[in-house]
Amino acid sequence: MAKNYYDILGVDKSASADEIKSAYRKLAKKYHPDLNKEPDAANKFKEINEAYEVLSDATKKANYDKYGSASGPNPNDFFGGGSGSSGGFSGFGGGFEDIFNIFTNFAGGGQRNSTAVAGNTLTTRITLKFEEAAFGVKKTINLVRTVNCSHCHGTGAKNGTAYTTCSDCGGSGQVRYAQDTLFGRVVNTAPCKKCNGTGKIVKDKCEHCNGKGYYKNNSPITVDIPAGIDDGQVMTLRGYGDAGIRGGPDGDLQIIVNVEKHKMLVRDGFDIYLDLPVPFTTAMLGGKVIIPSLEGKLELNIPENTQPNTILKLKGKGIKRLNKSGTGDMFVKVCVELPKNVDRKLKDKIEQLSNSISDSNFEQYKRYQEKLKTL
Ligand SMILES: [Zn+2]
Ligand SMILES: [Zn+2]
Repeated sequence: MAKNYYDILGVDKSASADEIKSAYRKLAKKYHPDLNKEPDAANKFKEINEAYEVLSDATKKANYDKYGSASGPNPNDFFGGGSGSSGGFSGFGGGFEDIFNIFTNFAGGGQRNSTAVAGNTLTTRITLKFEEAAFGVKKTINLVRTVNCSHCHGTGAKNGTAYTTCSDCGGSGQVRYAQDTLFGRVVNTAPCKKCNGTGKIVKDKCEHCNGKGYYKNNSPITVDIPAGIDDGQVMTLRGYGDAGIRGGPDGDLQIIVNVEKHKMLVRDGFDIYLDLPVPFTTAMLGGKVIIPSLEGKLELNIPENTQPNTILKLKGKGIKRLNKSGTGDMFVKVCVELPKNVDRKLKDKIEQLSNSISDSNFEQYKRYQEKLKTL
């Protein structure tokens, strides 16, 4: 049989909200463990708070009057929002903080916490090929996360009903205590030890989650990786982490992206770089070469008289900008290569060439020689 909260506060069943509040204030002052050193004061104080928590909350009071329990006929309602524990608790907190201003030097008293706990953030890594990162890709990730047990609605109790409301915290899952600090007396809240902050004492465990109210679930998710993502970037998927507890928000999933290197192309931001070896004859005379690109192999025209280390820009042939419009560019550096392992016959020809070519054919070389004379 539930306790008689009206008797505990010493008020009539027809008492108004103000009468209940005033009775509570009087008793809370009288039995506050820091002011009252009688051995039973702490218990009495707890009982008073429990009674006030229910009678100061219209919904809980109505349930109590009707069913003899603050949570009403269907305990599941208590858990899933609506007349849920956090809603009830904030009403409780309002009245509570008023009274605690008497005891604390801090205006506003203690923090207003609910026992809801946010789910853990999970972290995973994926490795993408160079092109997958450039163009975007759908990836399936095998995700192990805790989920609330649907069989017991996260209560941990068999069928979601085999529990009683914790008498230490009156179902709020939190207890308040006063603490002396350098700054004076501070009122803190802590999760109730008896019920581990759940507000419930499980009588029969739910067999699906072994009484925990949640379990590890292994389910693959498909993630859209956007085009333009780069090595080392982190994608955050809100709500894909561990489930929140007692109505707390679900955690996030963080995906750390690794991007494999391309065999030939180098990425910097959204631009792509290629060092292109070109025979000196092609650089001199001009010609066509095949280059790799994001679009596959392309034919690139090398204009005649292309000097070493000339950079040719291929506009728009880079990577799509992440979450923006536009695309980076591709830059091809012409690395002019001189022939090696030249045989006698070819050396003779090059000698002939050397004799027939004058300093004036080499602009930079000519300027260099002129400057040297001025030293
Ligand atoms: Zn369960
Ligand atoms: Zn408790």
